[in-house]
Amino acid sequence: MKYELPPLPYSSDALEPVISQDTINYHYGKHEKTYIDNLNNLIQGTKYEEMPLEDIIKSSEGALFNNAAQAWNHLFYFFSFSPNGGGVPTGGLMAAINNQFGSFEEFQIAFEQAGVKLFGSGWVWLSKDGDGQLFITQASNAANPLTQGLTPLLCFDVWEHAYYLDYQNRRADALHNLWKIIDWEIVAQRYQEEAL
Ligand code: MN
Repeated sequence: MKYELPPLPYSSDALEPVISQDTINYHYGKHEKTYIDNLNNLIQGTKYEEMPLEDIIKSSEGALFNNAAQAWNHLFYFFSFSPNGGGVPTGGLMAAINNQFGSFEEFQIAFEQAGVKLFGSGWVWLSKDGDGQLFITQASNAANPLTQGLTPLLCFDVWEHAYYLDYQNRRADALHNLWKIIDWEIVAQRYQEEAL
C-alpha cells in the first residue's frame, strides 16, 4: 500500500459544532479511506505507482483520476481546518483578496455562492496562478485546479456526504459555518509557496 490515511492534526470531535464527530468519522475515516484504497489498487503494477500524486492527477482520467483527485482533495480540505481557526487572513494573501474582491467579506460571499450554486457534487476552489492572481472556480465531482495549471489555496467540499449528517439539505449553512474553522496560517503558507 503506497498511500495511507494520515491521522488528522485535531481530534475527531474538535471541529464541533461546525463539523460533527460523526461526519469526521464517515467523511474522513470512510469516504477518504475508500478513495485512498481505490487509488492504491488502481496504481499497483502500473507506471503511476512511482509518480507523485499531483502528477497522477494531471495525467490520468476515468476511475484513476477520480480516486487520485478525491484522495488529494480531501487531504487538502481536512488539513485546512483547526479548532482555533476562523478570523481573517493576514499579509500578502489578505492584500490580494482585498485587491481582487474588494474586501474579505465580498470574497466570502462570492466563494459561498460559487458553492451554493454548483449543481450536483463537487468543490469550490480558491487558487492562484504564477503571478499571484486569485481565482474562485467551481469543479464537478473530483475536479480540481491542478489540471488548469493553478495552485490550490482553499476548498469547500460541496458533495452531500460532506454536510448531510449535520445540515441535511442546508448546504448554504454548512458552507457558511466552515469559515469558523479555516486555519488561515495554512492558507497563507500555500499562497507564499511556489506552484505545485
Ligand atoms: Mn467529500
